[in-house]
Amino acid sequence: MPLVSTRQLLDEAAKGGYGVGAFNVNDMEQIQAIMSAAKETNSPVIIQASRGAREFAQDNYLYHLMLAAAELYPEIPLAMHLDHGNSFETCESAIKLGFTSVMMDGSLKTDGKTPATFEENVEVTRKVVDYAHERGISVEGEIGVLGGIEDGHGAGGSGLDHVTDPDQAVEFAERTGVDSLAIAIGTSHGAYKFTKKPDGSVLKMDLLIAIHKRLPNTHLVMHGSSSVPKDLQDIVNQYGGKLKETWGVPVEEIQLGIKNGVRKINVDTDNRLAITGAIRKVLWETPEKFDPRDYMKPARAAMQKVVALRMTQFGQAGHAGDYKAISIPDMAKGYKNGTLITKPLVAAK
Ligand SMILES: [Zn+2]
Repeated sequence: MPLVSTRQLLDEAAKGGYGVGAFNVNDMEQIQAIMSAAKETNSPVIIQASRGAREFAQDNYLYHLMLAAAELYPEIPLAMHLDHGNSFETCESAIKLGFTSVMMDGSLKTDGKTPATFEENVEVTRKVVDYAHERGISVEGEIGVLGGIEDGHGAGGSGLDHVTDPDQAVEFAERTGVDSLAIAIGTSHGAYKFTKKPDGSVLKMDLLIAIHKRLPNTHLVMHGSSSVPKDLQDIVNQYGGKLKETWGVPVEEIQLGIKNGVRKINVDTDNRLAITGAIRKVLWETPEKFDPRDYMKPARAAMQKVVALRMTQFGQAGHAGDYKAISIPDMAKGYKNGTLITKPLVAAK
C-alpha cells in the first residue's frame, strides 16, 4: 500500500473504537521491527520521526526506508508522521519530502523549549493546516504543554505545569481545523515520567475525559505514553546499566483513554529500553562478539515484541485489512470539498 494519511488511520480507528500506536524511529532496524510487528498482528501503524531523527538518519535515508516498508508490506496501512514540528518551515519541509502527516507543536516557541502564547499557537497551527490540507496531509496540534524533554525538544519540568484547559482545547480545535489534538494531562517525555505508580494526582485522566466530552469527535493524542515496564528496566540494569527507578503510563490508563477518544498513542522509550537491554545482554554475556548483527538481531526482535504487545493492547491488531488506502490527492479533494470534516463537533458543558 502507498503511504497513507494519518487522518484516514485515525478515522478508521474511531469507527472501530481502537487506538493506533505511533512508534518513533531513527534507523532501519527500528522500522523493520515495527513492520514485522504490524505483519505479525495484522495492524495498521503510524511510524514517526522527530527533528532529531531526521537529523540523525538524514531525510533521504529515512524517506526511502519508509518507502521500502510500504513496498514490502502492501497489506499494512502505514502512515509517516513528523513528531513535534517546531515551525511552519519544519512542517513544510517534511511535507515536501513525503511525510503523510505532521505535528505542528505550537505549544512551544520555535526554540522547542519556551511555552508559546495561545494566540501564537493558533496562528502557526492554522498556517500549517492550510498548507497541509491543500496537499492532502493531515495535521496534529498540541494544546497545553507536555513535561520533560526528548531529543532536545520540550519545556522540561513536570507534566503538571501546563495541563490542557478544556475550554482552550475547544477554541483551539475550532480555530485551527486540526485533524487530531495532543493534550497535556500530566504525561512527560523520556524515561523518567513518574517517581511512583501514577495515580489521579499526577495523571489527569479525568481531564482527558472532560475534553473528550466537549469534543466527542476529535481524535485525541497521548504523548509520552510509554509504560516503562519494570522488566525492561531490569534487563538494562542486570547487564551493567544504571537506570534509576521510574514509572511510565500504565497500559490500563491508556486503554481508558482509548475508550474516551484517544486514537493515537506515542511510544518511544519502551522501544529504546528493549533495544538497549538486548544489546547489553549480548555484549555482557559474550564480550568476544564484535559483529553488529550479533546484537542488532536480538535488539530488533526485542523491539518487535514490545511493539506487537502494544498493538494488541491498543486494539489496532487485526484491523489492517479493514479498509483500502485513500490516495493523498483524494484526501486533498476531501478537505477542499468538505467531505473531510475539519470543524469539530462541540458539546455543551
Ligand atoms: Zn511528544
